[in-house]
Amino acid sequence: MTDSERSKRHRMRMQRKKEVVDAAIAQADREQGLLLVHTGNGKGKSSSAFGMIARALGHGMRVGVAQFIKGRSDTGEEAFFRTQNNVIWHVLGEGFTWDTQNLEIDTETARRGWTIVQKMLCDPSLNLIILDELTYPIKFGWLDLTVVLSDLKNRPPMQHIIITGRGAPNALCEVADTVTEMIDVKHAFRAGIQAQKGIDL
Ligand code: ATP
Ligand code: MG
Repeated sequence: MTDSERSKRHRMRMQRKKEVVDAAIAQADREQGLLLVHTGNGKGKSSSAFGMIARALGHGMRVGVAQFIKGRSDTGEEAFFRTQNNVIWHVLGEGFTWDTQNLEIDTETARRGWTIVQKMLCDPSLNLIILDELTYPIKFGWLDLTVVLSDLKNRPPMQHIIITGRGAPNALCEVADTVTEMIDVKHAFRAGIQAQKGIDL
Protein backbone atom coordinates (compact mmCIF):
# COMPACT_ATOMS: atom_id res chain seq x y z
CA MET A 1 0.00 0.00 0.00
CA THR A 2 1.32 3.45 -0.86
CA ASP A 3 1.53 6.26 1.69
CA SER A 4 -1.34 8.08 0.03
CA GLU A 5 -3.57 4.96 0.08
CA ARG A 6 -2.75 4.44 3.77
CA SER A 7 -3.55 8.05 4.51
CA LYS A 8 -6.86 7.84 2.58
CA ARG A 9 -7.88 4.66 4.49
CA HIS A 10 -6.99 6.31 7.79
CA ARG A 11 -9.12 9.38 6.89
CA MET A 12 -12.10 7.17 6.01
CA ARG A 13 -11.77 5.13 9.21
CA MET A 14 -11.59 8.28 11.32
CA GLN A 15 -14.60 9.76 9.47
CA ARG A 16 -16.66 6.63 10.27
CA LYS A 17 -15.53 6.74 13.89
CA LYS A 18 -16.45 10.42 14.14
CA GLU A 19 -19.97 9.69 12.82
CA VAL A 20 -20.47 6.98 15.47
CA VAL A 21 -19.16 9.22 18.28
CA ASP A 22 -21.21 12.24 17.10
CA ALA A 23 -24.38 10.10 16.97
CA ALA A 24 -23.76 8.80 20.51
CA ILE A 25 -23.17 12.35 21.80
CA ALA A 26 -26.35 13.61 20.06
CA GLN A 27 -28.35 10.84 21.72
CA ALA A 28 -27.16 11.75 25.23
CA ASP A 29 -29.31 14.87 25.48
CA ARG A 30 -30.48 14.77 29.13
CA GLU A 31 -29.05 16.38 32.25
CA GLN A 32 -29.47 14.97 35.76
CA GLY A 33 -27.71 14.49 39.05
CA LEU A 34 -25.69 11.28 38.84
CA LEU A 35 -25.00 8.53 41.32
CA LEU A 36 -21.51 7.07 40.90
CA VAL A 37 -20.07 4.05 42.68
CA HIS A 38 -16.32 3.33 42.90
CA THR A 39 -15.74 -0.17 44.20
CA GLY A 40 -13.33 -3.11 43.85
CA ASN A 41 -10.06 -4.04 45.54
CA GLY A 42 -7.73 -1.91 43.43
CA LYS A 43 -6.39 1.52 44.38
CA GLY A 44 -8.10 4.65 43.08
CA LYS A 45 -11.63 4.68 44.52
CA SER A 46 -11.31 7.64 46.89
CA SER A 47 -8.63 9.52 44.97
CA SER A 48 -10.75 9.46 41.81
CA ALA A 49 -13.69 10.86 43.77
CA PHE A 50 -11.46 13.60 45.21
CA GLY A 51 -10.30 14.41 41.68
CA MET A 52 -13.91 15.16 40.80
CA ILE A 53 -14.06 17.63 43.71
CA ALA A 54 -11.35 19.63 41.89
CA ARG A 55 -13.40 19.49 38.68
CA ALA A 56 -16.53 20.67 40.46
CA LEU A 57 -14.71 23.52 42.24
CA GLY A 58 -13.31 24.65 38.90
CA HIS A 59 -16.91 25.20 37.81
CA GLY A 60 -17.75 27.15 40.97
CA MET A 61 -19.80 24.28 42.39
CA ARG A 62 -20.28 23.50 46.12
CA VAL A 63 -19.15 20.13 47.46
CA GLY A 64 -19.87 18.13 50.61
CA VAL A 65 -17.67 15.25 51.78
CA ALA A 66 -18.58 12.64 54.40
CA GLN A 67 -15.89 10.15 55.42
CA PHE A 68 -17.31 7.08 57.09
CA ILE A 69 -14.19 5.11 57.92
CA LYS A 70 -11.42 7.37 59.00
CA GLY A 71 -8.22 5.46 58.39
CA ARG A 72 -5.93 8.42 59.03
CA SER A 73 -6.25 12.13 59.75
CA ASP A 74 -3.20 13.33 57.82
CA THR A 75 -4.30 12.96 54.21
CA GLY A 76 -3.28 15.61 51.67
CA GLU A 77 -6.78 15.83 50.21
CA GLU A 78 -8.37 16.65 53.54
CA ALA A 79 -5.70 19.28 54.33
CA PHE A 80 -6.13 20.86 50.90
CA PHE A 81 -9.88 20.73 50.43
CA ARG A 82 -10.56 22.03 53.97
CA THR A 83 -8.92 25.31 52.83
CA GLN A 84 -11.54 25.67 50.07
CA ASN A 85 -14.59 27.85 50.83
CA ASN A 86 -16.87 25.74 48.68
CA VAL A 87 -16.08 22.45 50.43
CA ILE A 88 -17.75 21.16 53.60
CA TRP A 89 -15.75 18.22 55.03
CA HIS A 90 -17.31 15.90 57.64
CA VAL A 91 -15.44 13.10 59.35
CA LEU A 92 -18.17 10.78 60.57
CA GLY A 93 -16.08 7.78 61.48
CA GLU A 94 -13.97 9.15 64.32
CA GLY A 95 -14.22 6.79 67.28
CA PHE A 96 -15.49 3.89 65.25
CA THR A 97 -13.45 1.43 63.29
CA TRP A 98 -13.05 -2.30 63.58
CA ASP A 99 -10.82 -1.37 66.55
CA THR A 100 -13.77 -0.45 68.77
CA GLN A 101 -15.27 -3.95 68.44
CA ASN A 102 -18.44 -2.57 69.95
CA LEU A 103 -21.48 -3.05 67.72
CA GLU A 104 -23.70 -0.64 69.67
CA ILE A 105 -21.17 2.20 69.55
CA ASP A 106 -20.36 1.60 65.88
CA THR A 107 -24.02 1.49 64.91
CA GLU A 108 -24.84 4.61 66.91
CA THR A 109 -21.89 6.51 65.37
CA ALA A 110 -22.81 5.44 61.83
CA ARG A 111 -26.48 6.40 62.30
CA ARG A 112 -25.52 9.79 63.76
CA GLY A 113 -23.27 10.22 60.71
CA TRP A 114 -26.12 9.38 58.36
CA THR A 115 -28.33 12.11 59.87
CA ILE A 116 -25.62 14.60 58.87
CA VAL A 117 -25.61 13.12 55.36
CA GLN A 118 -29.42 13.37 55.26
CA LYS A 119 -29.14 17.13 55.83
CA MET A 120 -26.71 17.40 52.90
CA LEU A 121 -29.06 15.31 50.74
CA CYS A 122 -31.77 17.92 51.40
CA ASP A 123 -29.56 20.87 50.44
CA PRO A 124 -29.79 21.67 46.70
CA SER A 125 -26.97 24.22 47.05
CA LEU A 126 -24.59 21.25 47.40
CA ASN A 127 -23.89 20.19 43.81
CA LEU A 128 -21.65 17.19 44.60
CA ILE A 129 -21.47 14.94 47.65
CA ILE A 130 -18.75 12.34 48.26
CA LEU A 131 -19.73 9.50 50.60
CA ASP A 132 -16.27 8.06 51.14
CA GLU A 133 -16.07 4.43 52.35
CA LEU A 134 -19.87 4.26 52.76
CA THR A 135 -19.92 0.61 51.70
CA TYR A 136 -18.41 -0.53 55.03
CA PRO A 137 -21.07 0.69 57.49
CA ILE A 138 -23.65 -0.83 55.12
CA LYS A 139 -21.75 -4.12 54.89
CA PHE A 140 -21.37 -4.37 58.68
CA GLY A 141 -25.09 -3.72 59.13
CA TRP A 142 -24.58 -0.39 60.97
CA LEU A 143 -26.65 1.43 58.34
CA ASP A 144 -29.83 0.16 56.74
CA LEU A 145 -29.39 -0.09 52.96
CA THR A 146 -33.12 0.53 52.36
CA VAL A 147 -32.92 3.85 54.22
CA VAL A 148 -29.73 4.82 52.37
CA LEU A 149 -31.26 4.04 48.94
CA SER A 150 -34.46 5.87 49.72
CA ASP A 151 -32.63 9.01 50.93
CA LEU A 152 -30.41 8.95 47.82
CA LYS A 153 -33.46 8.60 45.57
CA ASN A 154 -35.18 11.62 47.16
CA ARG A 155 -32.22 13.99 46.84
CA PRO A 156 -32.38 17.17 44.72
CA PRO A 157 -32.56 16.17 41.02
CA MET A 158 -29.33 17.90 39.96
CA GLN A 159 -27.21 16.75 42.93
CA HIS A 160 -24.33 14.38 42.06
CA ILE A 161 -23.23 11.66 44.52
CA ILE A 162 -20.06 9.55 44.55
CA ILE A 163 -19.92 6.52 46.85
CA THR A 164 -16.61 4.74 47.41
CA GLY A 165 -15.61 1.51 49.12
CA ARG A 166 -14.96 -2.16 48.47
CA GLY A 167 -17.80 -4.65 48.10
CA ALA A 168 -20.56 -2.26 47.01
CA PRO A 169 -23.90 -4.07 47.44
CA ASN A 170 -25.67 -5.14 44.23
CA ALA A 171 -28.79 -3.14 45.06
CA LEU A 172 -26.66 0.02 45.20
CA CYS A 173 -24.90 -0.75 41.90
CA GLU A 174 -28.26 -1.38 40.26
CA VAL A 175 -29.63 2.09 41.05
CA ALA A 176 -26.30 3.85 40.30
CA ASP A 177 -25.76 5.58 36.95
CA THR A 178 -22.04 4.92 36.69
CA VAL A 179 -20.26 2.04 38.44
CA THR A 180 -16.51 1.53 38.25
CA GLU A 181 -14.68 -1.46 39.67
CA MET A 182 -10.99 -0.90 40.38
CA ILE A 183 -8.98 -4.05 39.78
CA ASP A 184 -5.99 -4.78 41.99
CA VAL A 185 -3.38 -5.83 39.43
CA LYS A 186 -0.44 -4.90 41.69
CA HIS A 187 0.09 -2.65 44.73
CA ALA A 188 3.41 -1.35 46.02
CA PHE A 189 2.39 -2.09 49.63
CA ARG A 190 2.71 -5.82 48.98
CA ALA A 191 6.33 -5.25 47.95
CA GLY A 192 6.95 -3.77 51.40
CA ILE A 193 6.71 -0.09 50.45
CA GLN A 194 4.95 2.11 52.97
CA ALA A 195 2.12 4.50 52.09
CA GLN A 196 3.67 7.44 50.25
CA LYS A 197 2.60 11.08 50.66
CA GLY A 198 0.93 12.43 47.52
CA ILE A 199 0.11 8.93 46.28
CA ASP A 200 -1.48 6.99 49.12
CA LEU A 201 -2.26 9.80 51.62
P1 ATP B 1 -7.02 5.74 47.16
O1 ATP B 1 -7.47 6.58 48.35
O2 ATP B 1 -5.53 5.73 47.04
O3 ATP B 1 -7.75 6.07 45.92
P2 ATP B 1 -8.80 3.52 47.58
O4 ATP B 1 -9.82 4.48 48.07
O5 ATP B 1 -9.07 2.82 46.30
O6 ATP B 1 -7.38 4.21 47.53
P3 ATP B 1 -8.94 2.19 50.16
O7 ATP B 1 -9.37 0.79 50.35
O8 ATP B 1 -9.85 3.27 50.63
O9 ATP B 1 -8.56 2.36 48.63
O10 ATP B 1 -7.54 2.32 50.84
C1 ATP B 1 -6.87 3.52 51.01
C2 ATP B 1 -5.39 3.31 51.23
O11 ATP B 1 -5.03 1.95 51.04
C3 ATP B 1 -4.54 4.09 50.24
O12 ATP B 1 -3.37 4.44 50.90
C4 ATP B 1 -4.26 3.10 49.15
O13 ATP B 1 -3.04 3.32 48.45
C5 ATP B 1 -4.19 1.80 49.91
N1 ATP B 1 -4.68 0.71 49.05
C6 ATP B 1 -5.70 0.75 48.18
N2 ATP B 1 -5.83 -0.42 47.54
C7 ATP B 1 -4.88 -1.24 48.03
C8 ATP B 1 -4.48 -2.58 47.77
N3 ATP B 1 -5.11 -3.32 46.86
N4 ATP B 1 -3.45 -3.09 48.48
C9 ATP B 1 -2.80 -2.34 49.40
N5 ATP B 1 -3.12 -1.06 49.70
C10 ATP B 1 -4.15 -0.51 49.02
MG1 MG C 1 -10.83 4.84 49.81
